Amino acid sequence: MNENSFEKFRRIFSFVVNAGAPFYRNKYRQAGFSSISLDRVEDVRHIPLLHRSELAHCPVGQRHYMPWQETLFAGYTSGTTSGDLFPLLRNYNIGEPPDIEMYKVLLLPVQPWRVIAYAETFRKKKAFVVCGDMHNMEVTASMAQIFAVDTIYATPASILLLVPYLQKYRALASVRSLILHGEPLSNARRESIQRTFPHAAIHIQYGLSEIGNVSSSCPGDQSGALFHLDEHFWYETVDAETGEAVPLGKQGELILTTLEYVPTPLIRYRTGDLAVLVSECSCNKKTRAFVLLGRIGFDVIKIGGFEFRAAAFEKGIEGIPDLAEPNIFEVHLYEERAESDGSVKPRIRFRIGTVRSLTEEKKRSIQGDVLQRTIVGRMLSLEEAVQRGLLLPPQFEFATIAPDTSISRKRGILINHI
Ligand SMILES: [Zn+2]
Repeated sequence: MNENSFEKFRRIFSFVVNAGAPFYRNKYRQAGFSSISLDRVEDVRHIPLLHRSELAHCPVGQRHYMPWQETLFAGYTSGTTSGDLFPLLRNYNIGEPPDIEMYKVLLLPVQPWRVIAYAETFRKKKAFVVCGDMHNMEVTASMAQIFAVDTIYATPASILLLVPYLQKYRALASVRSLILHGEPLSNARRESIQRTFPHAAIHIQYGLSEIGNVSSSCPGDQSGALFHLDEHFWYETVDAETGEAVPLGKQGELILTTLEYVPTPLIRYRTGDLAVLVSECSCNKKTRAFVLLGRIGFDVIKIGGFEFRAAAFEKGIEGIPDLAEPNIFEVHLYEERAESDGSVKPRIRFRIGTVRSLTEEKKRSIQGDVLQRTIVGRMLSLEEAVQRGLLLPPQFEFATIAPDTSISRKRGILINHI
């Protein structure tokens, strides 16, 4: 972070501890954190981290730091954990829009309130916006064709739903840029989208519903996982379990601070995303950047519109004999290409701890039980989801765990590799 960013950090920090809203003052008092002198960049590390659940459990009025006249709208978070959704207040997207040319943008919002936040972003770009409708893809594709949109702004899952309609209306050819946001994009799915839009460059926006767009992907990197740092945010990485800072180039949980005046400021907010901060990106900008590596131990993970819940996996596995106690297992989520038809689907790999080494027959029996008992998406067993072609067949790995082994469960059982 440069001097300018640190000055902004000091200014915003001083603002939240002195403002009328009590949220941060109370939080720091309860944590026994009293010092508000930030003399050096390293001092930032002493400020307690902020967790999503603290926002969810605090009435929105107590964490509202700007007058209503300067607050544009209320929306609600998207569900990335099993915690309840909670209201948020926003004025505008403080993050920079993607650094690309766009003239006519098709916007396909999943939540209606997001249109207001995006409107400001596209106004900055002087772009004309065609508002699509997730519930009427026919009309959406027809408008894309009428206005010859050159850019589509959508989630990967919604763009895939739209593709058949765009094909029907011959509206694919004019598209030069895809700006994808809102959910992780595996290489397999990215390649699949790229084949459908051969003339379009794919850009990824990283953001949080709590605050909006945070970073844009580096055009010099093909993986879509390298993001430029945006000067409106302060970026850190910490050890997800201890909260200690990790050095540049080492992976840790991405921590964000908003450096502008926004209605609900985030100070050292835990994103739940695993990242590595790097000193230089891959394009001509040679700017500081981070690589996104996946989600850290969250309760719910959505892949390609399909929902996986940690609690459902726990239920699916509990009570099965011969497994280590307490049940020790991890569920690794990937996306891979199906050999049969080349389509991209979620793949689950179980790593299950057992108290003794098992026969092949016993392993098969456990696999069958887990497939029948685990519910994914909407009321489908894993077995049914595989039969219906929604998932690739899960894979299992068994490891014998010594009875006295204490394996940390803090990081959660769901591990996303997308
Ligand atoms: Zn770059």
